[in-house]
Amino acid sequence: MKKNNLFFLILFALSFHSSSAQNDNVRMKKKAITLIPVDGLDSYPVYKGNDLGLTYSKRKSVFKLWSPAAKEVTLRLYEKGEGGKAVLTKKMKPKGKGLWLAKTGGNKEGLFYTYQVSLGDTLLAETPGPYVRATGVNGLRGMIVDFAKTNPEGWQNDQRPPLAHFQDIILYELHLRDISVHENSGIKNKGKYLGLTETSTKTPDGLSTGLDHIKELGVTHVHLLPVFDFLSIDESNLDQHKYNWGYDPQNYNVPEGSYSTDPYDGRVRIREFKTMVKALHENGLRVIMDVVYNHTGSTENSSFNLTAPYYYYRLDENGFFSDASGCGNETASERPMMRKFMIESMKYWAQEYHVDGFRLDLMGIHDIETMNLAAAELHKIDPTIFIYGEGWTAGTSPLPEIRRAVKANAKKLKGVAVFSDDFRDGVKGNVFEPKAAGFATGNYKLAESVKFGITGAVNHPQVDYAKVNYSKFAWANEPADCINYVSCHDNHTLWDRLVNSRKGDQEADLLKMDKLAQTMVLTSQGIPFLLAGEEFVRTKEGLDNSYQSADRFNRINWDNKKKYKDLFTYYKDLIALRKKHPAFRMGTAEAIRKNIKFMDSPFDYIIGYSIDGAAAGDSWKRILVIFNGSKIGKRMTIPDGNWKMICNNYRISENGMGKVNGNKINLLPWSAYILAEE
Ligand code: CA
Repeated sequence: MKKNNLFFLILFALSFHSSSAQNDNVRMKKKAITLIPVDGLDSYPVYKGNDLGLTYSKRKSVFKLWSPAAKEVTLRLYEKGEGGKAVLTKKMKPKGKGLWLAKTGGNKEGLFYTYQVSLGDTLLAETPGPYVRATGVNGLRGMIVDFAKTNPEGWQNDQRPPLAHFQDIILYELHLRDISVHENSGIKNKGKYLGLTETSTKTPDGLSTGLDHIKELGVTHVHLLPVFDFLSIDESNLDQHKYNWGYDPQNYNVPEGSYSTDPYDGRVRIREFKTMVKALHENGLRVIMDVVYNHTGSTENSSFNLTAPYYYYRLDENGFFSDASGCGNETASERPMMRKFMIESMKYWAQEYHVDGFRLDLMGIHDIETMNLAAAELHKIDPTIFIYGEGWTAGTSPLPEIRRAVKANAKKLKGVAVFSDDFRDGVKGNVFEPKAAGFATGNYKLAESVKFGITGAVNHPQVDYAKVNYSKFAWANEPADCINYVSCHDNHTLWDRLVNSRKGDQEADLLKMDKLAQTMVLTSQGIPFLLAGEEFVRTKEGLDNSYQSADRFNRINWDNKKKYKDLFTYYKDLIALRKKHPAFRMGTAEAIRKNIKFMDSPFDYIIGYSIDGAAAGDSWKRILVIFNGSKIGKRMTIPDGNWKMICNNYRISENGMGKVNGNKINLLPWSAYILAEE
């Protein structure tokens, strides 16, 4: 989720819908007064069991719902996921601690269900409840599913690909539809989970696409934009497919239906999601889910609010839903049942679907304690599960910042990494100023922000923190706490930013800047992160907030793989270089402080540093990395040594492109250099 774009959305909403928004607020406030207990929402009892939702067996189905304010709860079974009359209606029984229970005998597999909560004078709408794990079309009703039957063949042998250290990770951020939907993707299951399981797919030019392409590129983790069930796409009308990123959660523990080949049968999306995970694992790729627990797509009619009104949300001093997400509400992770829900949900995806990590949208809304508990619980399942998030919000929150998982509090997070907007904007320019340049496009004033990223946001004696664009101190404890990137789904792609900030420059020069920017990402300490498709020029035709734009803005254009073959090769070689050389991914802050030394720069536009490769366990004894972020070529003195050129003139060769004579090198415009001594 984006902060700037939401801001404009809010302005839009306020300017065009202010009267209806006010009415809504008045209505909500009136309702809140009657629905919130006198002693406050924190007075609700807490249910500690881990069996909320449906427990299925062939003999019976057991339904458990936490609904502390309910006077009565009705369970209904249906034959279909929408429409038709209930085939069974049952009053649930109160069991204390807010728990309601119902049992139905016999094998009810394939039927659908809802809960309906009565608060006495108020009857809430039917809902599958927050804990639902399978639904029919559009996530309206839960589905009774035998999960044992949802496993693809060989699922019991599915394994997470090996990962020795977090610092070995290279993230690739991907929207499931974008990868396959282009006419020349060669992928049959366009826009589907299964699209990411197809191998040997090619462009008309015979170049690999989809899964094979990702493998060829060499990244380690595929980070999927929301693939849990979200609200914005009508699953019953996929011919009129509306594109959406999916940051509008509906059922957190259910896969999105529009990505399945049959959104009506809840089992299909489960099996296809697992098939996708298995295919990625078999090809050596780990899978990260983008999770959006910070808000729900609908507010009053979310499954949270239809079972425990207001409890799962923060409210402002006037009793309105507070809105740090910029999407109409924010959840309250500090409340025990919300905290429990979040943690159990991530554990569920890790265990049932073998997901390898989580990216938390607007993590700055969640409290630190919840994030640390979640990380600890997930690491009990597997210590290599990787957790990271956006260390910011999209609006103000009533929970004091000192308690929230924002970037400034990153040192208090344990096993949770955060994105470095310091580095992102340092390299390519401030995302909120579409024409602003960064260090890689000629703004030398951002040099310290780049150095901040090179050192993985850990404290380094040669970084002048007073001159860093945003953070005035090193916020990472260890390098794996920092995600370095120059672009993601939000805002402009790297290419569009280059075009915007370097108006009139030749494409050949923009390609040099592109390589320079990503060389910074992929040689820096910390965890590198790439937006899918950037490896052969990705453009959204200048759009920044493309969250519901047409495919033509969002899809990966496979024709570009041939057109920008040189760029793709460069990215691939850079990734291979990083994977081969541990000097670019040291494990500790201490090692970074000891082994990285910035050199005196002859020119403000040049950053150069050396790495003590031997000390970092690398096969190269010493390494030099130099960036020239200007259109002017320069001569630079380098330390004496027996250097071979690994990267220059916008090409990479791990075996070297000849010896360097003397202790001076010529730096070409917009260039990155890597030199090594064996
Ligand atoms: Ca959906």
